[in-house]
Amino acid sequence: MVKAMVNIKIVQGRREIGGNCIRIEDKDKVLIFDQGIRFSIFRRYFTRNIEPLGIPELRKLQIIPSEEVFENADSIYITHFHLDHLGLLQNLPVKSKIKIPSMRIFNLFERWYQFSSSWLKYVPPRYSTQISEVELMKSDENNVVAIPVKHSAYPSYGYLYFGSDETVFYTGDFRLTSIVNENSGLEMYETSVIEYFEDNRDLKIDTLIIEGTNFGRIITPIEKNTIKSIIERMADEMMIFAVHPLEIELILLVIMELKKLDKKIVIACERLAEFLDENIKQLSEAKAILDDIFVLIDTVTKGVIFNSIDILSIESEPTKYAVIVNVRRIIDSLRLFDIEKIPLGSPVILLTSEPFEEEEVHREEILLRWLNYYGFQPYRARISGHYYPFEFKTIIKTLKPKKIIPIHTRRPELMYELFSRII
Ligand SMILES: [Zn+2]
Repeated sequence: MVKAMVNIKIVQGRREIGGNCIRIEDKDKVLIFDQGIRFSIFRRYFTRNIEPLGIPELRKLQIIPSEEVFENADSIYITHFHLDHLGLLQNLPVKSKIKIPSMRIFNLFERWYQFSSSWLKYVPPRYSTQISEVELMKSDENNVVAIPVKHSAYPSYGYLYFGSDETVFYTGDFRLTSIVNENSGLEMYETSVIEYFEDNRDLKIDTLIIEGTNFGRIITPIEKNTIKSIIERMADEMMIFAVHPLEIELILLVIMELKKLDKKIVIACERLAEFLDENIKQLSEAKAILDDIFVLIDTVTKGVIFNSIDILSIESEPTKYAVIVNVRRIIDSLRLFDIEKIPLGSPVILLTSEPFEEEEVHREEILLRWLNYYGFQPYRARISGHYYPFEFKTIIKTLKPKKIIPIHTRRPELMYELFSRII
């Protein structure tokens, strides 16, 4: 028997959610896909008071991949900017070649985290690394093609690798639910995974490395119409939305719906405003949607292109407004208001996709305690960033892989079993 040349090693993420890292060796070529932080372990060792001592300690605790993982690597491909995939770029050896989904968003992250007093300062890479943006749907020097996928971080990609004796597709994280579509006048995706493989029927995948986050989890498969209806029904209230800045699709959907109700929309934290600003530059169609929104002048100090408004104007007619804020900054933003002037029981709608399992240590009960203290009413409207298990069959039937390797899941056996029954 001829020895296989493509050798896939799942370094991290085999039976856990978060911390993906894959090493593919093929003759003398070595490719790495994602190098995320394993928050499941991180959370057990660190708090606000106990910070990581540095990269070496994080490696020893097996929270990030060790040095050997990157040995002789030609390129490191990142699927999206969630930290359980992007990881700490300072972990990468000098002169590494890193391929990322968006240079603009990367620059923003670098600026935000560079001088952070927490472990986030390890997110930006060292100076000698070569960073470049992936090219869409084109085979690069390593025979890797980036294919757009829908996820709760925009933009996100899956990677197709044409190896010497095997074709491998790594999905990264993805969902099938679409949030903004062509009808909204926004062209956010050139294609999606399902469309791409439907259009390229002669493409044969040998190994599909597929995420399976939602297997075994309790989830409500809601879609965009649910969000639209929630917004309509609360039209008379001063609505406050807690979002994750990378969920640009969801933010655009909310803004479009609020505009139909003639709400004045206020972005109440700096980073979210900067983020939207960057997205406008990249997505020209978003300009029309975002051109009449406001930023709260009391929180946003850096120059962004939006109109500004102050707290007093909102307090004078609160129900004319809807406030959108980064979930991490929500209490800080609400504290700026004279709470007496905000109608008691105003809704705070938590729109963040996942329970932060994949992004750091977040104590939702503390957030809820504060909302209660101030008399706000919390609601949850969560659209998962991951496909639902009932969609697995469609994915397998479209991609037709010879075999699968489950990743980013707690139920790999279930996925293998389901796969064997579908094919
Ligand atoms: Zn993700």
